[in-house]
Amino acid sequence: MSNILNAFLNDNLNDLKAQGLYNEIDPVQGANGPVITVNDKSLINLSSNNYLGLATDEELKAVAKSTIEHYGVGAGAVRTINGTLDLHIKLEEKLAEFKGTEAAISYQSGFNCNMAAISAVMDKNDAILSDQLNHASIIDGCRLSKAKIIAFNHSDMDDLRAKAKAAKASGQYNKIMVITDGVFSMDGDIAKLPEIVAIAKEFDLITYVDDAHGSGVMGKGKGTVKHFGLENEIDFQIGTLSKAIGVVGGYVAGKQNLIDWLKVRSRPFLFSTALPPADVAAITSAIQKIMDSTALHDKLWDNGNYLKAGLQKLGFDIGASETPITPCIIGDETLTQQFSKRLIEEGVYAKSIVFPTVPKGTGRVRNMPTAAHTKQMLDDALAIYEKVGKELGVIS
Ligand SMILES: *Cc1c(COP(=O)(O)O)cnc(C)c1O
Repeated sequence: MSNILNAFLNDNLNDLKAQGLYNEIDPVQGANGPVITVNDKSLINLSSNNYLGLATDEELKAVAKSTIEHYGVGAGAVRTINGTLDLHIKLEEKLAEFKGTEAAISYQSGFNCNMAAISAVMDKNDAILSDQLNHASIIDGCRLSKAKIIAFNHSDMDDLRAKAKAAKASGQYNKIMVITDGVFSMDGDIAKLPEIVAIAKEFDLITYVDDAHGSGVMGKGKGTVKHFGLENEIDFQIGTLSKAIGVVGGYVAGKQNLIDWLKVRSRPFLFSTALPPADVAAITSAIQKIMDSTALHDKLWDNGNYLKAGLQKLGFDIGASETPITPCIIGDETLTQQFSKRLIEEGVYAKSIVFPTVPKGTGRVRNMPTAAHTKQMLDDALAIYEKVGKELGVIS
């Protein structure tokens, strides 16, 4: 190894370890269901994004297995050579139906989707108004486009309006886009889409909503855009197929000409191998399931509301959450990490999230209840929360 690289890696790794910021990863031994095994210990899992429990759904597993028999395990090529299977077309038709748009395009991940879609449309002569708390993949996608990035304060509509007005008035930009998460993953709050759409109309902005945490959760499962009835107002509806949908991948849903353009100009579609057939078939079935019945969605909200009420009753601060995402705000970073460590020792897997992912002094343990949890599991988790909370003086 190059001496310079070796020194760089060792210095930086040692530095992180000395600061207690090096993240040790504990592998999950088996499926990522409502209860997981880590280090041979069984834990109630409040850390997955598997909102509807579809990652381990028996019907979807059966679909994936039979698809492998017919199609094998890989797509064999990028979409534009001959990696487009009939399964991909079916999935994209289903996604458009699900999102209420003319068309849709799928990608290998939600992260990839933001790399693909923003830079296919925006360039150095453009500007992007981006919520300060947008996901890392949105930030990287914006950077890749070389457009001017103008961050606005989180969900602050006065700030967005002022910055949109200034950008428009400057006459410097060919196109201006506004980008927001649909549901923000750290606090579980919902983007103010009706206000954003009104501002977009006033200043002729392109609208882009990444609903990774909203699909399957909001709008009776159809997402945050549907929740507000804005399917015809949002230009780019982005989603992931890895969270509530339970598998892997990402997509853009929108007008036919937008999707046609992304098929010829978005680089991960052109230069990275297509999603594997078994995944594509399982995803299509998962979306059909969400469209056919709100049972899993309803169970998710029931469980979310139950956990929230229980934590609040114990005296915990659950912040501004409007969705099943339930932060438990502890504050101090060290105390937060200690809290999460004690929860895991007692049998609840809930991860600490601290600065720089969230502002200093707002360290939290984030809980992700799912449709697959039983009331008993949630009661057990609450009892452990009570014990650890009292022990560490977070509640009295
Ligand atoms: C999780 C997430 C992504 C990434 O999705 P993957 O499919 O896991 O790559 C993108 N955007 C947002 C807002 C997310 O929360």
